[in-house]
Amino acid sequence: MAEKVLVTGGAGFIGSHVVDAMLEEGYEVVVVDNLESGGRDNVGPDVPVVEIDLRDPGLGQVFREHQPRYVCHLAAQASITKSIRGPLVDADANIIGSLNVLEECRKNGVEKILFSSSGGAMYGEPVTLPCREDHAVQPLSPYGAAKAAVELYLPIYRSLYGLKYSALRYANVYGPRQNPSGEAGVVAIFAGRMLKGEQVFINGSGEQERDFVYVEDIARADVMALTSGEDEALNLGLGVGTSVNEICDRLCGLTGYTLAPEHRPQAEGEVFKIVLSVEKARKVLGWEPRVSLEEGLRRTVGSLRESRQKVTS
Ligand code: NAD
Repeated sequence: MAEKVLVTGGAGFIGSHVVDAMLEEGYEVVVVDNLESGGRDNVGPDVPVVEIDLRDPGLGQVFREHQPRYVCHLAAQASITKSIRGPLVDADANIIGSLNVLEECRKNGVEKILFSSSGGAMYGEPVTLPCREDHAVQPLSPYGAAKAAVELYLPIYRSLYGLKYSALRYANVYGPRQNPSGEAGVVAIFAGRMLKGEQVFINGSGEQERDFVYVEDIARADVMALTSGEDEALNLGLGVGTSVNEICDRLCGLTGYTLAPEHRPQAEGEVFKIVLSVEKARKVLGWEPRVSLEEGLRRTVGSLRESRQKVTS
């Protein structure tokens, strides 16, 4: 019988790609999602989606019924800006919600949990680049603090209850199904606006650098981490820094957009320059990012074009 994986946030952007990758590897999948930012259509009709909030006491019943061997925990309030506007709301979803998941893992004998952490929000403004996992944890936002807090619980659940874990510190993930009208995800926001011929806004000078990694590479790393890389924090990125201005230029080329971008004030709580060292994931998981920035952006624009055509036809 196929081993069962419960994916929280599986109807969201990254979660839905994790679901696809797990199914491809032969796992049975059940999704837990409150559909706040995710959509039922992001996963195939054969995948059971339980519409429930992480903080709902009914979460226990879902675990008892499905008895997953593994949990991939991606459900979260995923916007830095929202976390600054509402740190209590952020902590409630991202810390209390995650603790509920950990409690149900403990009570139901789950073997391993993968926690979707953040390489972009964990380290603050890095002192050394590329930034390794042993860099000081100095988040600049409540969102980053909540991710760091949950990471602190993981070894506690390991030593008290034997729950294995990997804390996967994602870089800036982009790709198909990222919400172009969302608050996070510069690639989807820019590409979405460009395809509609709308004004594009760059926060600050645009010289800020991020490590942009394609979502299918991340989903593959999640699959690999189910069975390797025990009790570790692992950076997952492309290992290359790219400025927001360069992303904008490349997307202009791919979409044929010709308007000049307008600059707005720099967003609060975001680092200026971050590139992740992915050496540890290479060694521990045997993982490599496979999709170049050029190819990833091309696929993302292609998929946005397709969904726009579906809506307009
Ligand atoms: P997303 O908003 O597309 O996905 C989050 C999913 O969780 C959505 O389907 C949403 O409906 C669900 N959800 C949110 N709160 C919930 C709750 N309380 N109960 C149940 N379901 C809930 O975001 P994403 O970009 O796919 O992010 C997935 C995970 O990866 C998050 O934990 C995020 O913090 C982390 N992450 C993302 C990035 C990135 O670049 N996108 C980078 C680092 C870390």
